[in-house]
Amino acid sequence: KWDEILEYLKIEHGITDVSFRTWLQALDVFSVVDHLITISINDSKIGDSKKYIVNKFGIPLKVSIEEIIGESFDIEFELSSDLKNRQPAPAALVKSKQEPSNDLKYPFLNPRYTFETFVVGNNNSLAHAASLAVAEAPAEVYNPLFIYGGVGLGKTHLMHSIAHYILAQNPNTKVLYVTSETFTNELIEAIRNRSDTTSIAEFRKKYRNIDVLLIDDIQFIIGKESTQEEFFHTFNTLHESKKQIIISSDKPPKEFETLEERLRSRFEWGLPVDIQSPDYETRMAILKKKEELDGLSIDNEVLKYIATNIKSNIRELEGALTKIVALSRLKNKDVDVVLAEEALKDLISPNNKRDITVELISEIIAEHFGIQPTDIVSSKKSRNIAYPRQISMYLCRELTDLSLKDIGKKLGNRDHTTVLHGIMKIQNDLETDDSLQNTIGVLKKKINPQ
Ligand code: ADP
Ligand code: MG
Repeated sequence: KWDEILEYLKIEHGITDVSFRTWLQALDVFSVVDHLITISINDSKIGDSKKYIVNKFGIPLKVSIEEIIGESFDIEFELSSDLKNRQPAPAALVKSKQEPSNDLKYPFLNPRYTFETFVVGNNNSLAHAASLAVAEAPAEVYNPLFIYGGVGLGKTHLMHSIAHYILAQNPNTKVLYVTSETFTNELIEAIRNRSDTTSIAEFRKKYRNIDVLLIDDIQFIIGKESTQEEFFHTFNTLHESKKQIIISSDKPPKEFETLEERLRSRFEWGLPVDIQSPDYETRMAILKKKEELDGLSIDNEVLKYIATNIKSNIRELEGALTKIVALSRLKNKDVDVVLAEEALKDLISPNNKRDITVELISEIIAEHFGIQPTDIVSSKKSRNIAYPRQISMYLCRELTDLSLKDIGKKLGNRDHTTVLHGIMKIQNDLETDDSLQNTIGVLKKKINPQ
């Protein structure tokens, strides 16, 4: 977990490689007692740099810990030479609270994404009502249920809510939630092992022998011929045997221009419902809900400040509140609008843009393709890594002002001609490959939500 936290910190706060290696890699968790994490600074390596580290990394680190672990902790820094004399009480970082049994059985469901924690507003009331109806009577009302809307507006939250609800009503229901990418990857894997005749059969068994299939972000299978074909058959099998199908997507069925008609029309059989951006009242309500869930007590003026300034995306709205609370704990100051302004200065810069860095781009691409950000800068040449790397080159060129040389340097010290080659490869492919166009579009939105 600690590595994950550092990695998150590095990407999310745009920390350079040099700075990362110098400072952050000299930190380690010494102990976790209640909600206090003691972090040791390896001063034999970097000297007494406690003050610098507290100032520079204190808040970002605290925020990152909260983001990764989902709980808040106080942190203190000590020099490792001082800690030597202390009784070390190292605890594995970090066992989160024991979850109820369904969550062990269903690790793919986020326990926080339930109907209870979902705020209903004008922007999502239809999607919410339809989801609840489906959850109460699977396969009896809308089949499939098709939920669409922009990034960070609550599609995944609603899907998990449906799954939790169905499982709570009837724990024996076989529920399967996957992203369309998992579906694709598992299919590819099954096809690759074709010599093993059971592999495809097993894939089919997994996806057809269930009561409820939730498939998230379906847009990623569009244009992938064999995946589309397989999904079509999965869909039919489930639908004919009266099993519930729930699909989410970033756009309505009719906008899938390259999707085969027979699949598109199926998406419209049930009920397509959309989620829009939340209005001010809904943003306030969501902040209040989070305040309540996290056991906080925040001045209303501060909530208003956040709701007024952060508009496009609920994930950012929640992130803003987390940041403010973290800053207040770290500085030991009350939460007020002045503090909020300080905490959110990066998020609400005058033109409302976050810094797009090579690191941010690589992180998002790595996450999307299920590889590590370090793979992108590595020298590995296998296609499943080289291709995402070329996409990184392409998007760095499009979304930053960096030169080919600088992009190459940041992407594992590559030559500028390698970068140019990568960019041209992607440009070429884009002319004919719909699914790539689609992927690039989604990645751009993830990198720059505005
Ligand atoms: P999407 O799948 O549409 O990109 P998510 O479902 O991941 O979006 O939502 C992003 C974040 O916003 C999650 O933390 C989710 O809990 C929160 N969220 C979205 N909509 C709501 C809502 N109506 N009420 C409470 N939280 C919400
Ligand atoms: Mg989602």
